[in-house]
Amino acid sequence: MSSVLEQELLCDWIWGRICGIEELILDTQYSGKEHARTICSPVEDPDAGTFYLTPPCVGEKCHVTPPRCPTEERAVGTIHTHPQGHVEFSSGDYLSSIKNREKIQCLATSRKHIATSWNASSSRVPTIFDIYKNMIKCEKLNMDMLDKNLVSLLAEANELAKDIADKALEGKPYDAETKYYREKMGEFRKGAKDSGFVIGCAVPEFMGVWERPTIRKEVKE
Ligand SMILES: [Zn+2]
Repeated sequence: MSSVLEQELLCDWIWGRICGIEELILDTQYSGKEHARTICSPVEDPDAGTFYLTPPCVGEKCHVTPPRCPTEERAVGTIHTHPQGHVEFSSGDYLSSIKNREKIQCLATSRKHIATSWNASSSRVPTIFDIYKNMIKCEKLNMDMLDKNLVSLLAEANELAKDIADKALEGKPYDAETKYYREKMGEFRKGAKDSGFVIGCAVPEFMGVWERPTIRKEVKE
């Protein structure tokens, strides 16, 4: 089976598992830790397109190593969560997907939006809600389109990410590093899209992103 066809099957297959992925988002919120599941596929399956998800693996606040597939099987992709609600794949996420030659990578997170609602009986006082949107985003990765320039942008961004983590631990400011990191990743994302290395999974087509609003708590009246 061609890699492109298998990636299309993977995109379809993953959208059918939204309930399980939302559970991963909830578990992430309760624990504050990254969660990951790996998509495995038997190597010698004549009818390729048979996929399953490993049980979740729980990492730390900003890092998780996805589970392995059994040795006789292929790891075709991963799903992981971001407890702090970051909606983009990090430099580390891309580097690890490249290292494992993943065909698809998915990110699941919950991001906060503030919403107000005007009560008819007390028109001057709005009710303010925290609205969380559960978001799932998947990307097809075409390793044939990956070039040296993209890899070096990721490597530079990843060095900056390490500096940021070190400075945060030491309680030092890291605004400049954050700015450079965003610049490098912006350049990488543009290049990755233009070259065809990254193509969004387009099933429930919202630019490859699925979102569902959920009201978690009422902040104030
Ligand atoms: Zn990540």
